[in-house]
Amino acid sequence: MTHVLLRHRDIPNINTIDVYKKNGGFEAFKNAVIKMKPEEVTNVVKNSGLRGRGGAGFPTGMKWQFMDNKNWPHYVVANADESEPGTFKDREIMEQNPFQFLEGVALASYAVGANAAYVYLRGEFWQVAKFLDEKIAEMEEAGFLGDKLFGTDYSLRIYTHLGAGAYICGEETALLESIEGKRGQPRVRPPFPPSFGLYGKPTVVNNVETLTNVPLILSKGADWYKSIGTADSAGVKIFSLSGRVKKPGNYELPFGKTFRDLIYGEGGGIIDDRPIKAIMPAGASSSLIVADDKALDTILDYASVRTLGADLGSASVIVIDDTVSIEWVISKTIHFFKHESCGKCTPCREGNHWMLSVVNRIEHHHNPEDVELLLNVAKQMQGKCLCALGEFATMAVVTGIERFPQDFKA
Ligand code: SF4
Repeated sequence: MTHVLLRHRDIPNINTIDVYKKNGGFEAFKNAVIKMKPEEVTNVVKNSGLRGRGGAGFPTGMKWQFMDNKNWPHYVVANADESEPGTFKDREIMEQNPFQFLEGVALASYAVGANAAYVYLRGEFWQVAKFLDEKIAEMEEAGFLGDKLFGTDYSLRIYTHLGAGAYICGEETALLESIEGKRGQPRVRPPFPPSFGLYGKPTVVNNVETLTNVPLILSKGADWYKSIGTADSAGVKIFSLSGRVKKPGNYELPFGKTFRDLIYGEGGGIIDDRPIKAIMPAGASSSLIVADDKALDTILDYASVRTLGADLGSASVIVIDDTVSIEWVISKTIHFFKHESCGKCTPCREGNHWMLSVVNRIEHHHNPEDVELLLNVAKQMQGKCLCALGEFATMAVVTGIERFPQDFKA
């Protein structure tokens, strides 16, 4: 199949404006602004079944419909923070197929009546931000951004904004605080961004991959998009495959393939052909899945992965083989979340601190009771944290201890 998102793999130099235009670029946006009402654009996206690709899988069109039309101005923010360990898909999109992403930002902005949109990038992506600034300038010069576009009353500007390297700024309300120049910490919700977002105004926050789907959905239609994938999850998904596989990388697949297709087909199997042991389907935030035949034959879509006691999330699939101890894996995830906890709420701030202390003790003191204590601390955090990071920090710990007890006995 040809790519929907990673189109640079089929069309050389699509990151130049001339090649992008020659391949139908900006026609969907121009057509929408001239011929369609904003709510018609939203309806096409809603009918396509597109769900957010940042992790939560929330229906995109429905999110756009939640915008409060009694409160103006409206904003669109593209979440390009991409900080989940094991996730590296948005960077490839922005570097190699930037105009399709930016056209998606423009279409979302038109659909919700926003005249300003922001692309929020993690601090380490400063080269990508500079590159996008150049692409945005080219779009302005070519008349695809600016005032009174295509002879209509609609105007749009897109700005990039760099974070300072904090994982928590991928959480949408912390991201909004960061753009406002405040410390990047999550807000208490509700209210949610479509009613109280950037500068207190209604705001749509969508992931880079989500928005990159939008131009082709508008040009080829909702039915075309829905015909790809499964009934639960329409369309295509980029899987960032890493860990103990022979061919790590980004793979764009229609929803409906299996873990086996991804790991043994696209990824070429396990290094040295060793037995596979565990799968983390959503980076460091994942539950650990026992990689038995049932798991390997499970379909890759949001609902099916949930039957394995895990979430697909951003689909950053980390593969673990029999040379790796799960105790070592969770010591790494705990270290990461302890470092990245923003400290705003007590269960996450203190819980991660104590989980790190206990897992260090497990590594060095061999006290069997510490495993039970670690599980206890993790379970006390669950359901009590202000944002998802606190919850994510416990996923690998609880499922690692419960599903791989032999690694802790050792
Ligand atoms: Fe901050 Fe953790 Fe609380 Fe989220 S759960 S607000 S990251 S301290």
